[in-house]
Amino acid sequence: MLDADFFRRWMTATAASVDREAERLTALDSPIGDADHGSNLQRGFTAVATALEKEAPDTPGAVVVLAGRTLISTVGGASGPLYGTLLRRTGKALGDAGEVTAEQLAEALRAGVEAVMTLGGAAPGDKTMIDTLVPAVDALGNGFAAARTAAEQGALATTPLQARKGRASYLGERSIGHQDPGATSAALLIAALAEAAG
Ligand code: ADP
Ligand code: MG
Ligand code: MG
Repeated sequence: MLDADFFRRWMTATAASVDREAERLTALDSPIGDADHGSNLQRGFTAVATALEKEAPDTPGAVVVLAGRTLISTVGGASGPLYGTLLRRTGKALGDAGEVTAEQLAEALRAGVEAVMTLGGAAPGDKTMIDTLVPAVDALGNGFAAARTAAEQGALATTPLQARKGRASYLGERSIGHQDPGATSAALLIAALAEAAG
């Protein structure tokens, strides 16, 4: 079973890896965006870690909803509302149980990813975070390590795609040949799940 501590570890592991990878995320956002993805998420997840420490929510759902709310209020770019919606919707789907199963987490994350697709209008193949999140959720039934592998492959597979959503889509064919920054950060979020479980 996964308790509030597991979800806290998931968020703090994400914050730590976003910190470590911030420069790379911003560098990826340079040729096909506005070079702020790393700093956007660094600001957001630092605020998430602080909020979790201060408010100490004691259920899985409350931890994840607080993280989502904090991202929405601290990240200005497209990724703030999108990641915020992902986590808020996932957290709501976890309900108010003190512990949840891995299956319940997989189901909740699927609801979260669907909410991101509804909000942003992106489908798989549009060169966004969705290209990481959909295969990761599909693989989650086989465990966290399988989800991490699927997420990393999904992020790499955005390179040859032409962007159809977000800032990168303004470049048309010139977006081809660059890995999507949001798909890359989504792989960090999924890898942090495996870390929290480890
Ligand atoms: P901004 O583009 O506002 O500067 P960020 O740089 O923080 O925001 O985030 C860019 C990332 O957000 C992209 O790499 C992409 O993965 C993701 N993204 C942008 N628009 C959408 C959308 N409509 N649906 C899903 N993801 C999106
Ligand atoms: Mg940007
Ligand atoms: Mg921006």
